[in-house]
Amino acid sequence: MSARSLSWSDQLLGTEPRLRDRTLLSLLGSLVYLVWFLVLVTFAIPQQRISPGLGLVFMVLMVPGLLLFYPLVRSGWTQRFADPGLMSVQILWGCLVAVVAYATAPTGRAALLQTMGLALVFGFMGLTPKAAVRTGAILIGMLLILLACGFVMPLPAFRPESQAIKLLSAAFIMGLITVQSHKFARLRERVHTERRELASAQLALERVTRHDALTGLLSRLYGQERLDQEHQRALLTGRPFGVVLMDLDHFKQINDLHGHQVGDEVLVAFAQAARDVLRDTDLVARWGGEEFLIVLPDTHEASKARQALERLQSRLRTTLVSETVPTLRISFSAGYALWRAPEGVDVLLQRADRALYAAKHAGRDRCVQAD
Ligand code: GH3
Ligand code: MG
Ligand code: MG
Repeated sequence: MSARSLSWSDQLLGTEPRLRDRTLLSLLGSLVYLVWFLVLVTFAIPQQRISPGLGLVFMVLMVPGLLLFYPLVRSGWTQRFADPGLMSVQILWGCLVAVVAYATAPTGRAALLQTMGLALVFGFMGLTPKAAVRTGAILIGMLLILLACGFVMPLPAFRPESQAIKLLSAAFIMGLITVQSHKFARLRERVHTERRELASAQLALERVTRHDALTGLLSRLYGQERLDQEHQRALLTGRPFGVVLMDLDHFKQINDLHGHQVGDEVLVAFAQAARDVLRDTDLVARWGGEEFLIVLPDTHEASKARQALERLQSRLRTTLVSETVPTLRISFSAGYALWRAPEGVDVLLQRADRALYAAKHAGRDRCVQAD
């Protein structure tokens, strides 16, 4: 897709859904920094709420939040990390700026504590259980270090005793948020695992329903689906295809003479011979007990279908089809038909079936072209 056809939100956030979620959070983070930056340059410094030197320190601290995190996440460069949204780094950086502000600027301290709590809540969206605990623990550590600093060095308008109550209760609340964040992350992980398991179970189920358990050929149901697809394709492109219905000759006798087990061996050997002889693009489905459907895509001439069937016939004359009865050889009868636009699949199969019946009737071990 060219850049010109992308909407502005696609350009800003990307098109991949998970990348979009992460990038949106980073962008929101940048906007919060922008607001604080504007407060700093239009209010706090001009009104001399903080000294220009301290103002400069904050501006430097805000640079990563304003200019670094969003482009790193948006570019996809951070995808190599365990935390590709840089969630933990962004939360902790924001909290570090807030802690430094808390220590150095006497105004707005309650808002700063709320901001820290809010930053931690953002972690609910994407931190792993471990990262949630680590992030919460580091933030609580920062608050305790801040309090300890207040006891050993003079900080502006910072009475250690009263600040201890505020900061310890803030640390307690951060602890509670961390516990919840950890629980939430584990729940999210469990949902992910269950979704993965469900997807692989679905794949396994599809494999089972699409293939015949004995021969590994396509099942009748899936064979019919693929035939319908081929028919649709032919209707669209006008490129004809062929179908073959075939049935092993005197198969009941094989079962009766040598047992069902040998019958099964023969079916497996026949399926392998068919796969070997036909093109990779041809489809072979087990249509019934010892009856098979072959779909031959892109087949313009009936002679091509006949040649494929003759290859299979001559292969079977020399193929060992049962380890138990090495002398056993099998043959099949087949009816083949080329699709004629715009006939439906049912009509096509009926024509092939009639041809198969004619082949059986004419003495078996032969292939008959449909009318
Ligand atoms: P024809 O040449 O007219 O086709 O004769 P036939 O004996 O092959 O035909 P018929 O339809 O009478 O017999 C088919 C036999 O295939 C009957 C059934 O027991 C056997 N069969 C169907 N499915 C299986 C299977 O999975 N394993 C084995 N061993 N036999 C099967
Ligand atoms: Mg049969
Ligand atoms: Mg048969």
